[in-house]
Amino acid sequence: MKISKLAIDIGHNVQFDGGAVGIRSENELNYEVGIKLIEKCRAAGLTVINCTPRSATSLYDSLNQRVEAANNNNADFFISIHHNLCTGGHGSEILCIPGGRAEEAAKIILPEIAKLGLTNRGVKARNDLFVLKNTNMSAILIECAFCDSPIDMNNYNPENMAEAIFKGICRAFELNVSGHNGPTEQVNYYTVARGDTLCSISKRYGTTIEKIASLNNIANDDIIYVGQKILIK
Ligand SMILES: [Zn+2]
Repeated sequence: MKISKLAIDIGHNVQFDGGAVGIRSENELNYEVGIKLIEKCRAAGLTVINCTPRSATSLYDSLNQRVEAANNNNADFFISIHHNLCTGGHGSEILCIPGGRAEEAAKIILPEIAKLGLTNRGVKARNDLFVLKNTNMSAILIECAFCDSPIDMNNYNPENMAEAIFKGICRAFELNVSGHNGPTEQVNYYTVARGDTLCSISKRYGTTIEKIASLNNIANDDIIYVGQKILIK
C-alpha cells in the first residue's frame, strides 16, 4: 500500500467543536501530537494536507471543512487525531469503516502505539462518524489515549505518541524513511499468493506462525487473503 499525499486532521480545536476535558485537555493533546506527526511525515517526504480548520461557524462546518480539505486535495489517506474520554477507560484504539485499506493500515499502526505501554483496545468498526463516512479516501480516527485516565496520562508524552504513529505509517505505507533522522527499522513485506498459508510463509522466511501473526495483528491463523501484504520482520 503506497501513498504520496496524506491528510492529517487535528481533532476539535475550533469554536463549536471543542474536545473532551479530562486530566488534560483533548484539544491540547490532539494539537501537540498532530503537529509533531505532520512534521515527521513531511520530513519523510510525504505531502501532508493539514485538514484542521482555522475557524468554524458550527460543528457541521468544522467537520465538513476537514472532509473537504482532504477531498479537494485528493489525499490518498486520511488520519484524524483524537484523545478519548470515558471514566474508567484506558488505552488506544483506532476507529474505521471496516474492510479495505483503512482497516489494513489501522492494524499495522495500532500495535506501534501499544508498544508505548498503552493497552491495545483494538481496531473498531464505526460507520457513523462524519469524517470517516464523507472522506473519499480510506480514513481512520486514532483515539491515542484517554485524556481522563491517570493510567494513560501519567508520563504521557505527545512526542513519543507522534513517533509511534509515524512508525506505523511508515510500515503501513512502505515509506522510505531515509530522509528521516529518527530510528528506522528494516521492514520486509511478503504479498500473499494463491495457495499460501501462514505455515508455508513462515517456513520460507525462517520464522514462526506466531511471530508473523503477532507482527500483523492476525487473531486467527487462518485468515489471510491473496494480495495481502504480510510483515515478515
Ligand atoms: Zn475527540
